[in-house]
Amino acid sequence: MTTRNKKVLLKVIILGDSGVGKTSLMNQYVNKKFSASYKATIGADFLTKEVLIDDRLVTMQLWDTAGQERFQSLGVAFYRGADCCVLVYDVNNSKSFDTLDSWRDEFLVQASPMDPESFPFVVIGNKIDMGEEKRVVCVSVIMLLKGVIADRLKISAKRASTFCQSKGGIPYFETSAKEALNVEDAFEVIARQALAQEEAGDFSNDFPDTTIDVNRDYPDQGCSC
Ligand code: GDP
Ligand code: MG
Repeated sequence: MTTRNKKVLLKVIILGDSGVGKTSLMNQYVNKKFSASYKATIGADFLTKEVLIDDRLVTMQLWDTAGQERFQSLGVAFYRGADCCVLVYDVNNSKSFDTLDSWRDEFLVQASPMDPESFPFVVIGNKIDMGEEKRVVCVSVIMLLKGVIADRLKISAKRASTFCQSKGGIPYFETSAKEALNVEDAFEVIARQALAQEEAGDFSNDFPDTTIDVNRDYPDQGCSC
């Protein structure tokens, strides 16, 4: 069996503060559905979706949190074997953006990938459908703050891009799980990044570690001569 025909399972972890729309993004992508009602807990640990990347059929396993993200105690099993990590924030909630870095650190500590520098992350700023609505309300209520608020909204995208650049060029998407905006595009990049990571991982698995510990005391085998 060639490597190209091998069944590929990609594990993708979705992290971010509670309420930013992680479950909604997954539901929109996998089931093409959106629910406005807030359910902090879901039954399943992950959703799966088969996707075609170029000519390869791969199974994406999208791991969701069941509300535990509020305590940042997701356990090592949750992270183990991840091929890509998605960091989600809500564009209308700057605190959820500020915590992205600690979610990234948490992932790197728990998953401990072989090469943390090159491990693929994708950042998603969700709920962009709410921007205009918020702005309209604010403008009509306090005209003076109009400029300040518009700036704050603009800075959010700029800050996110700066953050992504500073972390080695993480791909960045702004989405709406509600309106299905950019969700498909974001997950296509996520799938590609995960596949590339999985293939890089396969490479190292094909060649077992043959390092010899030079400090070890090997027993004296004696000499027959
Ligand atoms: P999670 O805790 O990160 O999994 O967040 P949820 O997916 O449960 O979403 C939290 C709340 O935000 C729910 O009430 C969703 O309906 C709502 N929500 C999620 N995504 C969007 C979005 O793109 N736009 C809007 N307007 N609401 C959203
Ligand atoms: Mg959720």
